[in-house]
Amino acid sequence: MAEFDLINQFFKTAVVQRDDVKLGIGDDCALLSPPPGKQLAVSTDTLVSGVHFPANTLAVDIGYKSLAVNLSDLAAMGAEPAWVSLALTLPEADHTWLKGFMQGFNELAKKYNVVLIGGDTTQGPLSITVNITGFIQADQVLKRSQAKVGDLIFVTGTLGDAATGLHSVLNNIDADEYLQYCIKRLNRPDPRIQAGIVLAQNQYSTTAIDLSDGLIADLGHICQASNTGARIELENIPLSRELKHHYNNKPDWNSIINAGDDYELCFTCAEKTAVMMQKTMESQGVSVSCIGEITDSSRVECFLNNEVIVGLTNTGYEHF
Ligand code: ADP
Ligand code: MG
Repeated sequence: MAEFDLINQFFKTAVVQRDDVKLGIGDDCALLSPPPGKQLAVSTDTLVSGVHFPANTLAVDIGYKSLAVNLSDLAAMGAEPAWVSLALTLPEADHTWLKGFMQGFNELAKKYNVVLIGGDTTQGPLSITVNITGFIQADQVLKRSQAKVGDLIFVTGTLGDAATGLHSVLNNIDADEYLQYCIKRLNRPDPRIQAGIVLAQNQYSTTAIDLSDGLIADLGHICQASNTGARIELENIPLSRELKHHYNNKPDWNSIINAGDDYELCFTCAEKTAVMMQKTMESQGVSVSCIGEITDSSRVECFLNNEVIVGLTNTGYEHF
């Protein structure tokens, strides 16, 4: 089947429609009409087989995750998702694979009302590049650089599930129901779009990052950009019921704070705003936990029951 038939069959399916897409897939460019007065938030992420997902990951999960990680970047800025483009490099034109991939991709596209507006399709080792655009109000933005000494540090949801899921997949461990939950968190992260918008639009926070490379590494980016340090209380890091059960009361903190793929938000909030913020977030169905405080040191320091923990390596994921 020729490239154009693939495009018509799998990409030009218009599962989502928006009035601001004046011309979608099929011409040399898409034509888009941004809302007056808004800024565009734009982000690109590439997923490479064997690096960002185990090579045996199901196509439907790869499709889901490749949009999820891009949505997560918009969430971390407080932006509202709108348009997405998809550059696919495929070893072959495998219809079953493409059908599964687009099923996962479209599930999230529908949920967040994002339109696939174009892309590129080439042959080579499997690699997926997604470029996403969202809208944002100029004065309601979550950056990395605005943390202030004394701000409280929060995270959404729970941390560490995906790392344990990945470990079990890579080591072919027989997954019980608890590990299966962790594998689902690895393959199907839930981008925190609503949380990001609530934080930004209510100006509860000015500083956030999504946790893709591990808490210590990503919070480190906030500290570096803000010229601050941070103190984390490990015992306050929220863990899922499933992960607690898996750890049997002996959490592997190293894994929890250094492994990536959680796609939760880590954000700061002034102490006086924290109660109000927490109430609003919880009314939106988003659990948030205070895990520490921004400090004037130049490092991210971890404490367990008030004792400083040394020897927790700050690995984080780095490509080179
Ligand atoms: P060009 O040769 O001008 O780059 P292509 O033949 O690559 O155009 O693509 C034709 C149309 O199909 C374009 O509108 C392009 O955006 C769209 N398209 C190609 N691949 C994809 C894809 N993987 N996902 C979505 N749209 C795609
Ligand atoms: Mg092209």
